[in-house]
Amino acid sequence: MSERLSFPDDEARHPWLSRLLEAYYITDDGVAEGIRRETEQGRTLACSKGCAACCRSHTTIPVYPLELVGISWYVTEILSGDLRERLKQQLRDYSKQPGCPFLVEDVCSIHPLRPMACRQFNVFDKVCAEGEDAYYTRRQDVLTPISKYTDRAFDVTLPFYGIEKKPERRKAIKEGAIHRIAKVLKECKWDSLAEKMEVFDRNKSE
Ligand code: SF4
Ligand code: SF4
Repeated sequence: MSERLSFPDDEARHPWLSRLLEAYYITDDGVAEGIRRETEQGRTLACSKGCAACCRSHTTIPVYPLELVGISWYVTEILSGDLRERLKQQLRDYSKQPGCPFLVEDVCSIHPLRPMACRQFNVFDKVCAEGEDAYYTRRQDVLTPISKYTDRAFDVTLPFYGIEKKPERRKAIKEGAIHRIAKVLKECKWDSLAEKMEVFDRNKSE
């Protein structure tokens, strides 16, 4: 079992945060179970820390509105030090960069709050070549998320979108309604997030 991320003070102030962290907890559990099953079949996980070709080359990573709120909160209120400054600059210049704007020196600067799609993207047996998107070049080596976990993870986020009752949630999951509100991470206007970080820093120092 993975450990659920916990930010008690922030969760008390931001009720949506508990939903998001719960969804990530379920997602991570599902990924761990998926990897365990593949490993039992003799496969070896190719992903490791510092391996980031996927973050440099993938251009269609989906991100959901609640996840965007989470990323905004994390970089504005939690991220600190040199990494914060580096990221702020990258977000300002995001349109000039080919890869994900959150990749700083081959490390995901929002790792605890990275989107579900990033959490679920795992590749077996061979590290991706630079520029390769294994989903298209060798789909059989990419982890297929276990739907039981993915559905539960989406289910806990649905009240954030005003879908609260169980039958409505069930219908939304079945029909994939949530996927219609996903954005593409690369296409978001990240310079406005850099500005938000800047305003937060100015207010703090006054
Ligand atoms: S998906 Fe590919 S590039 Fe990304 S961490 Fe895994 S092996 Fe490395
Ligand atoms: S959010 Fe993080 S894990 Fe996802 S593509 Fe960007 S750097 Fe990689």
